[in-house]
Amino acid sequence: MASPKFLPGLAGARALDADDELASLRREFELPRERGKALIYLCGHSLGLMPRSARGAVSTELDRWAALAVEGHFPDARPKRRRARPTPPAHGGWLDYHARFAAPLAELVGAERDEVVAMNTLTVNLHLMLATFFRPTRERYKILIERDAFPSDRYAVESQLRWHGLDPNDALLMLAPRDGSFELDRERYDALLAEHGERIALVLLPGVQYLSGELVALADYTAAAQHYGCRVGFDLAHAIGNVPLAIHDSGADFAVWCSYKYLNAGPGAVGGCFVHRRHGAAATLPRLAGWWGHDRERRFLMEPKFTPLSGAEGWQLSNPPILSLAPLAASLALFEEAGMKRLRRKSLALTRYLEWLLERELGGRAQLLTPAEPERRGCQLAIRLAPPPEDAPSFVARLRAAGVVADWRQPNVLRLAPVPLYNRYRDVYGAVQALRRTLDA
Ligand SMILES: *Cc1c(COP(=O)(O)O)cnc(C)c1O
Repeated sequence: MASPKFLPGLAGARALDADDELASLRREFELPRERGKALIYLCGHSLGLMPRSARGAVSTELDRWAALAVEGHFPDARPKRRRARPTPPAHGGWLDYHARFAAPLAELVGAERDEVVAMNTLTVNLHLMLATFFRPTRERYKILIERDAFPSDRYAVESQLRWHGLDPNDALLMLAPRDGSFELDRERYDALLAEHGERIALVLLPGVQYLSGELVALADYTAAAQHYGCRVGFDLAHAIGNVPLAIHDSGADFAVWCSYKYLNAGPGAVGGCFVHRRHGAAATLPRLAGWWGHDRERRFLMEPKFTPLSGAEGWQLSNPPILSLAPLAASLALFEEAGMKRLRRKSLALTRYLEWLLERELGGRAQLLTPAEPERRGCQLAIRLAPPPEDAPSFVARLRAAGVVADWRQPNVLRLAPVPLYNRYRDVYGAVQALRRTLDA
């Protein structure tokens, strides 16, 4: 990337905002406020802001429930004659409600529609995928993950090993970063594969690392593992809605994600799953089954024999929680409007601006843990403060009192995520000023 030409001061930030083709999207979100004043929210990596349209999306389903009860499952009858007044768009019914998410989600992760499904939550989906894709044998039974994996992923993987009667001390391989670094170590990865490749059943890696914000080269890591015959899965929790993805082309076997971070679908929102097409149609793959994964045309025949739907839909268990899915529709409409290309363009500039300001205002007091190359990260920057604040929770509380919402993770990592959908250059400017003042105080 060309070296940035940012102008210092608030005027510099305002000039960038004036030039921002996506600036109006901010108005589509509810901003947390204090005494009427919007806070600077750099925590979209943890819980994305609420789209204003989410309330209406949920209300629509509540109204439908109230008005139609069980008949809400089925598509609205088409009006017989065209009415003079505009009527709301016909609802397809709850029976196929999940299907409306396939196209926008496929777009975001870079997959075919039949390869993705909105269902459950992330850790549940991870277990479902492991049930299918982690099939240990005597010869091949190990799982390779990163040492600093998100704890839930680690718990899921370890519990699967134990559930199969395996000892994690033997069967869990961990890719550690080089000393002092937070980045995945590609050389160590290759070395681990060279040494254990034939014994590794599954490699599970992040799309974007939750702590450091590193964007992992999906295709590259996948190909290296598949060379040894390992299955490969990705956790896209911090990647979906943050960076453009090409999960199909990566060749990965599966991926999982949640929707409440960059996808702004609300607390505990319904997550999603990708199953590569080469598996999707394989009705014989072992899986944990439920009736919503059963052949749609025969679902209500209540037959004893399970016939999975082809594609990722065939991994569904239950009829989905409509009220937790509705906000996702509201949010995905905004992604569609903005387009991932334009969002990424703004994101690269906004995060580069944050990096530039941190260097300028804090100098040696903030060490960047995120890769410096813009193409190797999403919007989040992780920094380590030197010297570390004595009391991290009170430091974050003081930052919050100064109007900035960010978060802190062990060991001494401050995560700042300027989200291009709703953050302005002015927010980034204000956040760094507040950070400097809090450190100086
Ligand atoms: C956020 C996150 C989770 C959270 O899991 P849930 O099942 O949605 O609670 C899991 N893994 C990673 C990598 C995450 O970033």
